Amino acid sequence: MSVFSRFHDGPLRTAKEWVSRLDRFSEYGDQSNGLNGSASPETIEALEEILISADVGVSATEHIVAAVRNEWGDGKSLRELIAKEIIRIFEAAGNCQTKIKSPRVILVVGVNGTGKTTTVGKLAKLLSLEGKNSLICAGDTFRAAAGDQLEIWAHRAGAGIVRGQVGTDPAAVVFDAIRSGKAQSKDVIIIDTAGRMHNRVNLMTELGKIRRVASRQVDGAPHEVLLVLDATVGQNGLIQAREFVKLVGANGVVLTKIDGTAKAGIAIAIAAELKIPVRYVGIGEGIDDLLLFSERDYVNTLFEVS
Ligand code: GDP
Ligand code: MG
Repeated sequence: MSVFSRFHDGPLRTAKEWVSRLDRFSEYGDQSNGLNGSASPETIEALEEILISADVGVSATEHIVAAVRNEWGDGKSLRELIAKEIIRIFEAAGNCQTKIKSPRVILVVGVNGTGKTTTVGKLAKLLSLEGKNSLICAGDTFRAAAGDQLEIWAHRAGAGIVRGQVGTDPAAVVFDAIRSGKAQSKDVIIIDTAGRMHNRVNLMTELGKIRRVASRQVDGAPHEVLLVLDATVGQNGLIQAREFVKLVGANGVVLTKIDGTAKAGIAIAIAAELKIPVRYVGIGEGIDDLLLFSERDYVNTLFEVS
């Protein structure tokens, strides 16, 4: 609980540290050195250092630095310039909100321990607040504990759950869940999956089969393939993420454990490098600790601009 209370005034609070470092340096930096506000090599280097240490990633940092190089000057606010560039990076990553289909099928993927099962429960709860009725599908049939854990989350979220026996083909459980979701006129079907990476080929094959089964039952399904990424892993997570995007066609990201990092810049790195939008952020271990990600709010919170 201490973690939540520490962050109760916003998961991005600590991330503001790097923005205030930017401020300090725009106040005392080149703006006052008679260079008409243009950026010196030292300024650029310091800016790069701040951004990289905030987990913004190489590619997004390059974009931001280029913008500062080209556009900063004549008393322009560095803070606003960078905020605008970050918004541009997010916008270029698009947004994957598809037309509402019924049932909307959401496939949740990612490596072990990133927070998939927890996110499935939180998402069902979040959607219920929008008046949407979810059915949860236990697509991780690898371990009995996985189904038990998911059942607890379904209960907390007030959502139904479809499970199979341990070792059942996950695609068969998905088939049952979608059939049952259609029969019960559910709005959303959220599919939890296994994330073991010791056998990558099998995992990708399994996810591919789930996709095919879903698409035969509901037009356009899965409508969302949400890749769950642990924010505390930082840039290393992006390597695996790229593989998921390529092989399973993930079209949105859930960034979990953002409460456990002061480097919320990873959201920008994801947009710049994966070119898919961050859709939700996890800010704790409770059922209500998932927020719909808004790039505007994110940037406004960091930079306090509107
Ligand atoms: P899975 O293996 O991907 O299904 O991951 P789980 O859902 O089992 O979560 C792994 C661990 O991460 C659990 O201890 C969760 O409580 C924790 N976790 C998940 N999301 C968050 C989050 O947003 N914040 C924090 N602090 N912990 C989280
Ligand atoms: Mg799990």
